[in-house]
Amino acid sequence: MKKFLLLIPIYIFQSLHAQDSIKHYWLGRSAGKLPLLSYSLGEDRLGSAKLGYIDTGVVLKIIDSVNTKYLLQLSKYHTAYMFKTDIQKDTGIIMRPYYLTGNWIVNGGKDRYDTIFISIDERLPYKSWMEIDPSRIMIDLYGVESNTNWIKQHTSSLKEIKNIYFNQAEDDVVRITIELKHQQHWGYTISYMKDRLMVLIKKPPPVAAIQKLRIAIDAGHGGTNTGAEGVTSHVLEKSYTLLFAKALEKYLKAKGVTEIIMTRTTDTTFGNTDRVLWLQKQQPDLLISLHLNSSADSSVKGSGTYYKYIGFRTLSTSILKQMLAIGMDEDFNVGNFNFLLNQPTDFPNTLLEIAFLSNKKDERKIMSMQFQNLVAKQVYLGIVDFLNQAK
Ligand SMILES: [Zn+2]
Repeated sequence: MKKFLLLIPIYIFQSLHAQDSIKHYWLGRSAGKLPLLSYSLGEDRLGSAKLGYIDTGVVLKIIDSVNTKYLLQLSKYHTAYMFKTDIQKDTGIIMRPYYLTGNWIVNGGKDRYDTIFISIDERLPYKSWMEIDPSRIMIDLYGVESNTNWIKQHTSSLKEIKNIYFNQAEDDVVRITIELKHQQHWGYTISYMKDRLMVLIKKPPPVAAIQKLRIAIDAGHGGTNTGAEGVTSHVLEKSYTLLFAKALEKYLKAKGVTEIIMTRTTDTTFGNTDRVLWLQKQQPDLLISLHLNSSADSSVKGSGTYYKYIGFRTLSTSILKQMLAIGMDEDFNVGNFNFLLNQPTDFPNTLLEIAFLSNKKDERKIMSMQFQNLVAKQVYLGIVDFLNQAK
């Protein structure tokens, strides 16, 4: 009896505490076109540093509101921000005390992907990143505890997955390691199929010849998005990115590339989010995005290439090297770049800022058809170099 009396105050305290914490969050699901998790409220020309995109329908615990973003509790020790427009309130969700991972099935398909299916009680947030030397894909699953006792691997059909395993990195974070058979990353896609997390790992192209690749070319800007302006000519970036894109298309065709995907072939408005979604459906082997740079300092000139993920860096350095070979100054190889068309993990991609419209000497080059054709050739040589390194 004495013992019972002692327990009552503890019980009251716990239930009050639980009610108190319930007041401070609500639940929703990721929604919209490309739901994006950000590390911070930091701002940059292209938005704050991206933690990564997630699928729609993912359960999110919202704990605070700051201007256009909500603060989310991903797991006990991890938070992230998301645009309010990317979250839909869902009063039907009943948060469980814990979520579990179940069995995994790892299979090599007939098509271009090795596939991983991971059973999870609910669609929960995740983050992924690439590593090189050795090449592997890492995924953190937030708010989940492991109950995985079966990782079924169909070894004879797997073409790209060398090893797959996990570690309960924190009480409620499961860290998945996917070791790859090849040094070069060819991309991966994470989404949910019902309550299973599906990871598609792209195999290398069956024939590593440029002619056999499906190459996407993106002419920057277009339509109402005019981009930068020529310092003396006042020509618009959108007009010249299209000319460079067409020159590249023509050159690749002449070299025997049959599958070329153009994000635009005319002066049309095509938003970058829509470009990404469209490209993900096209499933190219790689993407080259073409832009012309501009600086407040008119003496700055030259070429730069940009990438987000370390696994795709080689494509950007190979193309930059070829631009330097024709006498262009180096305006940096830039990593972890925030540009939207550098964000897809689905295929190697790079942004080439060909030259500066704000520099008189570069501007003259940009406007010359001879230079446009030369750049097309150098991009081609860069892709060939990339393929040779990937072998
Ligand atoms: Zn641009």
